[in-house]
Amino acid sequence: MGSRKKVHAFVRVRPTDDFAHEMIKYRDDNKTIDIHLKKDTRRGVVNNQQTDWSFKLDRVLHDASQDLVYETVAKDVVSQALNGFNGTIMCYGQTGAGKTYTMTGATENYKHRGILPRALQQVFRMIEERPTHAITVRVSYLEIYNESLFDLLSTLPYVGPSATPMTIVENPQGVFIKGLSVHLTSQEEDAFSLLFEGETNRIIASHTMNKNSSRSHCIFTIYVEARSRTLSDEKYVTSKINLVDLAGSERLGKSRSEGRVLKEATYINKSLSFLEQAIIALGDQKRDHIPFRQCKLTHALKDSLGGNCNMVLVTNIYGEAAQLEETLSSLRFASRMKLVTTEPAINEKYDAERMVKNLEKELALLKQELAIHDSLANRTLVNYDPMDEIQIAEINSQVRRYLEGTLEEIDWAQLAQVQGVLSLCLPSQQEQEVESTLRRKYTLIDKNDYAAISAVQKAGLVDADGHLVGEPDGQGFGLGVAPFSIKPGKKSKSKKMFKEQLSSSARKEGASSPLSGKDLDVSTSKTQMILSSKDGDVKDMLVRDRETSNTEPLASDSPKEELRPPRPSTPPTKPVAFEDFKNERGSEINRIFKENKSILNERRKRASETTQRINAIKREIDMTKEALNLQKSLREKQGEYENKGLMIIDEEEFLLILKLKDLKKQYRTEHQDLCDLRAEVQYCQHLVDQCRHRLLTEFDIWYNESFFVPEDLQMALKPGGGIRPGMMPLNKIVSLGEDDQDRFGQLQQTMLPEGPDSVSFYNAKVKMEQKHNYVKTMMGLQQAHRK
Ligand code: ADP
Ligand code: MG
Repeated sequence: MGSRKKVHAFVRVRPTDDFAHEMIKYRDDNKTIDIHLKKDTRRGVVNNQQTDWSFKLDRVLHDASQDLVYETVAKDVVSQALNGFNGTIMCYGQTGAGKTYTMTGATENYKHRGILPRALQQVFRMIEERPTHAITVRVSYLEIYNESLFDLLSTLPYVGPSATPMTIVENPQGVFIKGLSVHLTSQEEDAFSLLFEGETNRIIASHTMNKNSSRSHCIFTIYVEARSRTLSDEKYVTSKINLVDLAGSERLGKSRSEGRVLKEATYINKSLSFLEQAIIALGDQKRDHIPFRQCKLTHALKDSLGGNCNMVLVTNIYGEAAQLEETLSSLRFASRMKLVTTEPAINEKYDAERMVKNLEKELALLKQELAIHDSLANRTLVNYDPMDEIQIAEINSQVRRYLEGTLEEIDWAQLAQVQGVLSLCLPSQQEQEVESTLRRKYTLIDKNDYAAISAVQKAGLVDADGHLVGEPDGQGFGLGVAPFSIKPGKKSKSKKMFKEQLSSSARKEGASSPLSGKDLDVSTSKTQMILSSKDGDVKDMLVRDRETSNTEPLASDSPKEELRPPRPSTPPTKPVAFEDFKNERGSEINRIFKENKSILNERRKRASETTQRINAIKREIDMTKEALNLQKSLREKQGEYENKGLMIIDEEEFLLILKLKDLKKQYRTEHQDLCDLRAEVQYCQHLVDQCRHRLLTEFDIWYNESFFVPEDLQMALKPGGGIRPGMMPLNKIVSLGEDDQDRFGQLQQTMLPEGPDSVSFYNAKVKMEQKHNYVKTMMGLQQAHRK
């Protein structure tokens, strides 16, 4: 490939009983022909006439069968054509030397068929051997006679050269004949029919126009286009094989042509000498201009002579002494042809449609990969579609509010997109600051930011109340009023840890309060009591959580799998698909998720109510303390009760002290309740987080499976799968037993002398003869009518 290659030139000698052994000698290398001419004694004593020539070619074919000729001359060219290389095979020589015999062969005898039918057979055999490729074959048959172009496969009745004249057109892809019919053939027999039709038309045309068929050039072209059946292969190859049966090469001087015949001979010589000029130019490396356009023959073959194609010349010669002069001239042409070098190259093309499809596929795969990364990094439902103006404005506003300090954190769901926008709206230092904050995992949405909430709600991340799904409700706890030792936002702590924290915080409170150790004990045991009383719910959730974990192999054997709708051509957006998922495979997880969420919300509500009560108690404590202080200062001013070291207080003050003690007790109880509730909220929170994560992970898997896994892989993955549509079931193959196949083969062999291979050849032939006979009858009728 890509390397320079010489044109292959062969000589085929027509068999004769009168072979000129004295004059034509072959050397042992099977390549060299030596010609010896006796001196013309009439030229006198001083005779400088050359008498010996030697021609070294690629092979001399003497007494060679059609089989051997095909193997030697054409086989490689044809097989290379299926790999995308153009090929040209030409037969050159004197009229009657065997060009047509070599190219077309005897149509009445299968064994004597020529290169053309054999090339068609090879093409179709090779297609059968390449099931991985979709290969199309087209053929055309052009005749050039007196510088006019004729379509030998025209389906229209032949009406002569004036009808729709064909033209030779050049474009970057090459040369083609405008107006020439090109016929798609899907099997050997069709191709043979076209060939025979062309041959018959050639004969009929020569009859009706009174033209000598040996004086025309005929170009049979096989166009091959091979595409890989694997869709991912964007490249495809095209090639054409030109099989050229040239007109007789005899020179004008010899045949005493007159009138019309002279005109023909002149033309033939002209076009053949232009062909020779083009060949000489091609053989001369210094020449950059090749005169292709001097005649129709070279113009039509412009991209098939030299250049990037495999080229072969067969020179047909007579073996008789009488034809030696023409033989010499033919051999000279052959050796000139051998000097031409070509640079065969594959004709590769790109399938734009496939390229687009593959890019789309790659995009989908990359998105899938991103989704996997996101779910691994706990960032589910990140949308990578381009953002609209509203989304961009929303992110800008979030960033601005964050920088101003009015927004605590930025919505992580849009993190990936924010990073893209940051560079547009922030100076670099701020950018870094914001980015580092963004990298922190979990965040809250500003409760006053309705636009953000509705955006996230759409994505399924926020519930109807506007709570970010499973997130602690920061505002509901009244953090500024009641002092808590447990800070919100710490996740994934075990229940035991919460218990420990609770009791230690209770102990701390107890130590700093004026209450006795007994009170402390009571409150601690009460904490445990509260926890165990709520254990029922918690256990319930735990069980459900475990159930969820056990639903892992939901994937393929779930009966819900069958309910999956047929895969649409364009996948739905994630929010839309998520709704479907929640009603389908994800329904169980979603139900558990919802239940846990409602338990969580209920606990939160209780916690919020408790907080309000605590705040009310605290206010009362403060008020009571104030009243007590007032009483104390009044008493101190009066100084009336300080007798004998005894502190005497009045009833009002005493009642206030009792009330304060009671309030403090209440405060403590409520506070313990709140701590318990908070522990529970955190625990529920954890479960809800887990459920949500699971829901989203399952969703991602489902989404990718449903819309992105290739169909054949899905089939293969299904139990009992592996048989693709279009595959033949095994029992069908088995049903045609070996005996049947043998009998079929024998039947064909007894019917046809050349075995089953010749079936299509003879079928096409019979059809053509029937048609030909019909044409003959019609012509006879016309003549009779004229008379
Ligand atoms: P061309 O096309 O060069 O004018 P043809 O192919 O028509 O010559 O050959 C002229 C005749 O010679 C035909 O009858 C053909 O059958 C016969 N012929 C030519 N070459 C061979 C060959 N190698 N073996 C048998 N017959 C041949
Ligand atoms: Mg011929």
